[in-house]
Amino acid sequence: MADRNQFKLAGVMGMPIFQSRSPIIHNHWIGVHGVKAAYGHFPVQIDRVEAAVRGLAALGMAGCNITLPHKVKAMPLMDHLTPMAQRVGAINCIVVQADGSLHGHNNDGYGYIQSLKDEKPDWHADAGPITILGAGGAARAVIISLIDAGAREIRLLNRTREKADQLASIHPQVVQVLDWSQRHAALAGAAMLVNTTNQGMYDQPPLELHLDELPRTALVSDLIYVPLETPLVKAAKARGHVAVNGLGMLLNQAVPAFEAWFGIKPVIDAALRQKILATF
Ligand code: NAP
Repeated sequence: MADRNQFKLAGVMGMPIFQSRSPIIHNHWIGVHGVKAAYGHFPVQIDRVEAAVRGLAALGMAGCNITLPHKVKAMPLMDHLTPMAQRVGAINCIVVQADGSLHGHNNDGYGYIQSLKDEKPDWHADAGPITILGAGGAARAVIISLIDAGAREIRLLNRTREKADQLASIHPQVVQVLDWSQRHAALAGAAMLVNTTNQGMYDQPPLELHLDELPRTALVSDLIYVPLETPLVKAAKARGHVAVNGLGMLLNQAVPAFEAWFGIKPVIDAALRQKILATF
């Protein structure tokens, strides 16, 4: 935790990075709480990650967020990894300790679960089968957090089946892998559908999926937030589903990071949501 009387710097490290909305989030809370601090973008090339991360303590920084493509590469540079960071195999947040040591965290799963609860306060992970599409970096944090939250049956489907098979080893009793071609059948009886693929992002085609088999009571969750309303989210809302986009995950993962750096647990208020929405 930072000394409240000392000016502190934090930021987000990645490449490319200037599209990141994290500075809007943290600088909003810095203003709300009158913290003597600032949060910026740090464009860091892959071959400079080690130098940049080692510089955090030397510069007296509070820490930083780590995003693509550095989330895995920065891990071995940590002096300590939280159990969650170890399980996910990637970090998204570094906290510089008073003695200069670096602690690596992964708050993506926390942000994900919190975003579901924000949208549907009575949501329960054990309400029924959860169908998850995609088995990339984000899927791992999502699956671990859903299992921790009590999920008892996860159907996992990925275009490249081997990656899904690998992820299923997290908890083979809970995670059942199906072929990508079975994705429509895998919607039958599901309590929740999660898209962790990049299909539907602004620069990608829509996810090839129709929702006919999905019970109308199912919660639909898309990790994408650019655009805010993917074709999947749009189609789900048209069928009457509660549909959650990825913005809440982004906002909520920032809460524990800010608290670790500055010692204050911030709130995602309406003003912050408005600032973020104004950027779309
Ligand atoms: P990633 O590691 O590159 O994984 C991409 C996933 O998309 C893989 O499962 C990949 O399948 C699948 N995919 C790609 N092209 C496909 C296609 N044509 N048809 C079907 N599946 C396809 O990416 P990631 O880091 O996991 O991120 C995934 C998404 O989550 C992105 O849209 C990202 O913006 C979003 N995300 C959001 C947040 C948030 O805070 N809201 C945080 C992290 C990520 P293969 O294995 O077959 O290639």
